[in-house]
Amino acid sequence: MKKEVQRFLFVGNHPCLDLINTQLIVKGEPRDLLESVDDLSLWLMQARLLTASQAKITKVHLHNEEGASLLERAKTLRATLRIVVERVAAGKAVPDSAIDATNQLLAQRPGHTLLVRTKEGIKRRFHSLATQQVELLAPLLESASDLLSSGRLCLIKKCANAACILYFLDTTKNHTRNWCSMQMCGNRMKVAAHYRRSRDKASL
Ligand SMILES: [Zn+2]
Repeated sequence: MKKEVQRFLFVGNHPCLDLINTQLIVKGEPRDLLESVDDLSLWLMQARLLTASQAKITKVHLHNEEGASLLERAKTLRATLRIVVERVAAGKAVPDSAIDATNQLLAQRPGHTLLVRTKEGIKRRFHSLATQQVELLAPLLESASDLLSSGRLCLIKKCANAACILYFLDTTKNHTRNWCSMQMCGNRMKVAAHYRRSRDKASL
């Protein structure tokens, strides 16, 4: 079997932040990695929110309008979550509009929560009973409600590179993480700081 290429970034330490991180800056230009419902289905699979067999069902049964509506809803949720993280990372409160928007989506999903064993221990998972393809977003919604109610919003940080728009949950012991990743921003910023220091020294 061909190995699936990891084309999305999973540096957020939380599925909601990884969803937000599907919008990024590449060579100074904004880019959206969720251009089609196939992208969304691949992302959900790589984020382990959808199994390969569920993803196959999506492909077979999803009609054009349903696919477009699913993508639309995922992007609406992403926009709502972006408002939340931008405000929270700036030390502000979660706006009521974001809670209302999430509640509206939560109210539309039939199903129940289950406990499952994972490599990281016992986790809560939402088991959707809906046949509608739109309900494929249920685990993502569960994850959003989990983040908003977790008391961990204060751990959300934006990458310290001003030119980068990626977010992450800083789960390091002393909350000292600054970068989306060392490879992408950490090393680059350190090299730039070193260059500035040596240039300043040379001009003394
Ligand atoms: Zn970054």
